[in-house]
Amino acid sequence: MAVRFPLETEAFVVDKAGGDFVMTPIVIQDLRPDEVLVEMRYSGICHTDLLLQHGGLAPLIDFPAIGGHEGAGIIRAIGSQVKDKSLQLGDPVLLSFAACGNCGSCRDDQFSRCPSFPSLNLTGICRKDGSTPAMLSDGRPVRSQFFGQSSFSRVSVAHETCVVKCPYPDDMTIYSPMGCGYQTGAGTILNVLKPRPDQTVAVFGAGSVGVAAILAAASIPVKQIVAVDVVERKLALAQELGATHTINSSKIKRSLADEVKNVTGGLGVDFSIDTTGVSKVIEQMLNCLAYGGTAASVGAPPMDDKITVGSGSFFAEKKMWVGVTEGESHPPEFIPRLVNLHREGKFPVEKLSKVYSVEEMKKAISDMKHGTVLKPIIKF
Ligand SMILES: [Zn+2]
Ligand SMILES: [Zn+2]
Repeated sequence: MAVRFPLETEAFVVDKAGGDFVMTPIVIQDLRPDEVLVEMRYSGICHTDLLLQHGGLAPLIDFPAIGGHEGAGIIRAIGSQVKDKSLQLGDPVLLSFAACGNCGSCRDDQFSRCPSFPSLNLTGICRKDGSTPAMLSDGRPVRSQFFGQSSFSRVSVAHETCVVKCPYPDDMTIYSPMGCGYQTGAGTILNVLKPRPDQTVAVFGAGSVGVAAILAAASIPVKQIVAVDVVERKLALAQELGATHTINSSKIKRSLADEVKNVTGGLGVDFSIDTTGVSKVIEQMLNCLAYGGTAASVGAPPMDDKITVGSGSFFAEKKMWVGVTEGESHPPEFIPRLVNLHREGKFPVEKLSKVYSVEEMKKAISDMKHGTVLKPIIKF
């Protein structure tokens, strides 16, 4: 049956900074030619959603707003000018971030390097005219294309670049967080750092992004993987999933960098990844590098933060520090690659996730905050 607009549905709307995600009636006005209508089945919850909720993305994004930016669902309508002609009604798809599709990076199949990334993904508005597809029942517009899609909704209006086919509908639950958390961690290893089997990696923060990086490093495998966190439960899981060493940074006497170096016989690690965005941790991530090592910032620090680095040794020891968003991935290629890795048994991400009902949204967020569950997934 053809979908008719305006379409009444429900979504988790945050009404003001610090407000809760409240299931609220919304009305979807229309579908533009470059958009795909997706009936959501699952959506992962990511820390960036909590940043949005608490006003951390202001002034980029205004309220009311619908969060969510990774998920899985079924295509219910396809815009008339959607470029991927293989998409069909009823297709199961995974949602990822948006890109303009037309710039040099996008034409070069590097969506994560699209210069329009902030405006298309962090404002909740993806349409060129600044409009938003959904309204509240009182007529107020609601930001409803967070990362081009706002997956915390029973129905998502997704920009065409957000949609990746999922050939395994029975495993949509497992794959629903591929589009952000998992590809960010795994892509940092597989697309950016690319360690050799004789090299070493340290990961600061053993949440879903950090553990996805650990899984990817273990899939190569590399010589040593050091996981750092303050929650024992998370360190135990990191170890189960491939970390060769763990450090609880709340229980150490010397500097964190020295602890990491100690694991590698004093040399330091070839690659280090920070998923926390905390300046003091970033300094340790840089200080624990071996000669010629590369550090990757994956967790977003506050924009006005500063850190102190020994610039002389950084120069003399030929070190590098790179910022990485979304694992530098091109979702149409990288997500299927991760799905295949999972099917080969080398990316067991189901061990990170737990499924919650719509009514359990608050509990899901609380469990993630406390580290009981790394990747909560809401089932619609
Ligand atoms: Zn672009
Ligand atoms: Zn995310």
